[in-house]
Amino acid sequence: MAPRSAKPVSDQTTILIPAQHAAGGGAPLLGNLKLTKLSNLKLSNLKPGNLRLPANLSPVLLKRVALGMAVVVVAGAGYAGLRNVANAPADPGGAHGHNGVPGQSQPPDEAAEGVRRAVEGEAVLQRMADAVKTDSRGTFMSTIDPQAKAFDDQARTVFNNLGKLPLATFQLRYVSDDPGALEPDRKSALGGTESWLAQVEVSWQLTGYDAKPARETMPVTFVTRAGTTYAASFSERFVAGQRRPIWALGAIDVAKGTHSLVISLNSQANADDYAAVADKAVESVSKVWGKNWRQKTVIYLPSKQAEMESVLGAQPGTYTQIAAVTMAELDTPQAGAPVRIVANPKLFDELGKQGRRIVLTHETTHVASTATASPVPLWLAEGFADYVAFTAVSVQDESAAKELFKSIRAGKVPKGLPPPDAFSASSTDLAQSYEAAWLACRLIGERDGQAKLVKFYRAVHTSKSPTGLADAFRTVLGTTEQEFVADWQKYLQRLAGV
Ligand SMILES: [Zn+2]
Repeated sequence: MAPRSAKPVSDQTTILIPAQHAAGGGAPLLGNLKLTKLSNLKLSNLKPGNLRLPANLSPVLLKRVALGMAVVVVAGAGYAGLRNVANAPADPGGAHGHNGVPGQSQPPDEAAEGVRRAVEGEAVLQRMADAVKTDSRGTFMSTIDPQAKAFDDQARTVFNNLGKLPLATFQLRYVSDDPGALEPDRKSALGGTESWLAQVEVSWQLTGYDAKPARETMPVTFVTRAGTTYAASFSERFVAGQRRPIWALGAIDVAKGTHSLVISLNSQANADDYAAVADKAVESVSKVWGKNWRQKTVIYLPSKQAEMESVLGAQPGTYTQIAAVTMAELDTPQAGAPVRIVANPKLFDELGKQGRRIVLTHETTHVASTATASPVPLWLAEGFADYVAFTAVSVQDESAAKELFKSIRAGKVPKGLPPPDAFSASSTDLAQSYEAAWLACRLIGERDGQAKLVKFYRAVHTSKSPTGLADAFRTVLGTTEQEFVADWQKYLQRLAGV
């Protein structure tokens, strides 16, 4: 099933790429990226003291990438057809149906079979979860099909991974099965007396980081041999939009910072370094937003794009130009949902230190302001995240608003604040939209003060009214959107020198 809803909030912002990276590899830094908007900058474009660059490097590459997206990834449990068999026997009088299809029921014998499988599967899952809690590798591995050699390795990795995480809770719940899900070839390869595929809800909560458990739905293949039921796979028949838990994708490294937890699939990356940058990002955000939030972030570092897509349940290629994504790892978006910052490994690697700091500060702003469950319009969510990021690491306007200035100098002054679709990854004016949104927030900050900007954001964020934005313009800023837009247009023209 496709995700029920997604709120793509991509960011496109100027990132200064510290030049040591360019010096290092020798390979063209951006040659293989499908990015159109990049250019070279002279060092003179940088504000003094902004970036400390090695003296041997002259041109600093400026790249536009989407900084990040605040997404509400809603897949997993939105996967229709998962929720029936296990817990309730079907209506005996109902129409003949296929197990697992909502709205249809099964004849009693099929329903009874479904319940029997659920009981057997649930017992396996319970042993697994208990083994994780008691750190008993032997028990955990005793639940794994002795004939599934490849899965045996994966299961060991999963067990090791879970041992590295500060788990407050770890639960597996049998949700449903579909006896038709495994092809006859697969069933005969599995052998045994019976085999089937079930959807299992996995929930886990990270001590010190999560207010609520993260939840995913994962397919588990079961096989019964000589009266014993085992798990034989965690990865068959993933469907589009179904996210995978990061700890099921490969061996992880875990680094703990003061404010951050980095979970890395990339054995080449130094997770501690990322935790240090993530900690700085939290501090930068708290300086603007205040300390009235958890001040904890969880960063996922995949080692390849495909892993990022697996974590997000995204189609291949969706995030090619997105440096990082902030997602709620839960089936329904709600306040208190566990939020993860998922880095795009390739872009992250290329960004260099300051670029990563900008990206993480931006994403951390989304975490602090719970942008994955907020009524705030995108221009405000993204503009504010950039405002915080560029307050922490300042960048010359000429670089940071390059596309917008170009457009204004060509006579195209934005007619209004960027609408939601201006932030979609396919938008042709993506760069301008982010730049325009950032400068709208900066204008508020300059004119009314940073505290008022934060107050304005919070007012819109907490409003339950459809006129929340207009109300906040009036009550917090003493203006109207229309008046503000007129001032902002003048501000942009002035900055662009026209
Ligand atoms: Zn963003």
